[in-house]
Amino acid sequence: MNFDFTTTTFDNRRHSADELAVIAKEIRQDIIKMLAIAKSGHSGGPLSSADIFAVLYFNGCMNYDSQNPAMPGRDRFILSAGHMCPVQYAALANAGFFPKEELATLRQYNTRLQGHPARDMGLPGIETSSGSLGQGISVAVGMAMSDKLLDKNNACVFALTGDGELQEGSVWEAAMAASNFGLDNFCWIIDNNDCQIDGRLRDVMNVYPIVDKCVSFGFDVVECNGHNFDELAAAFDAFKKNHAGNSGKPTAIIANTKMGRGVSFMEDSYKWHGMPPNSEQAVQALKDLA
Ligand SMILES: [Mg+2]
Repeated sequence: MNFDFTTTTFDNRRHSADELAVIAKEIRQDIIKMLAIAKSGHSGGPLSSADIFAVLYFNGCMNYDSQNPAMPGRDRFILSAGHMCPVQYAALANAGFFPKEELATLRQYNTRLQGHPARDMGLPGIETSSGSLGQGISVAVGMAMSDKLLDKNNACVFALTGDGELQEGSVWEAAMAASNFGLDNFCWIIDNNDCQIDGRLRDVMNVYPIVDKCVSFGFDVVECNGHNFDELAAAFDAFKKNHAGNSGKPTAIIANTKMGRGVSFMEDSYKWHGMPPNSEQAVQALKDLA
């Protein structure tokens, strides 16, 4: 089996749902290839959030320039659930931040594509190191404070946490701060797949009801089907409207997803949280995604 990557890249104009589906498929195929080559890494979360990334990076939602990744005043994205980085690496490569063939180096010694995002490795598009759960969102809120209150550049900061990550206390400190400081430029995305490394959330540590918690922490909350491109696009539009209108409230997008989405034998199974496909499984997975 050949795990070569295509050289296809996509732009950041608004796309139709059908076009976003093509982009999400490419991202999922890249994730499977990366993990099969690396023989280690996380499958479940990257596949559950691939549709979110398709809308986030390829629908005019985030202001970035892949050819000038340090552009002043750019919007920033922080992957707080750092272990899900294969999906961000695939999105960045498909947006032209770096050559797609570099995806084959995931988790290799000295690669820029570490097993968790590592800012000091210099991969374009990675704004901070992350992966110690609960910390990325805190860094993101700090960035949003800086953009809104100090630099006043009107830039937006997006952060994605897992749902299991909500069990980390620092997540709620960050949420409290985002609300307290009126950060309408902050968008928190929760990949709500009801799976974490050891099982269902309510069997490990119940975090429900998530919507009510976010509302009570002062967020404008949009709950959506995280595999429906129209709903995802509308959720991000609601955030942008909040931001443009200086609402003084941060936004939380609760995207209901399925772990391992798109791959028959991985879907909705927490056993695939931290496991890569072997070669035969990767062949099957790529067939499922074709
Ligand atoms: Mg989860």
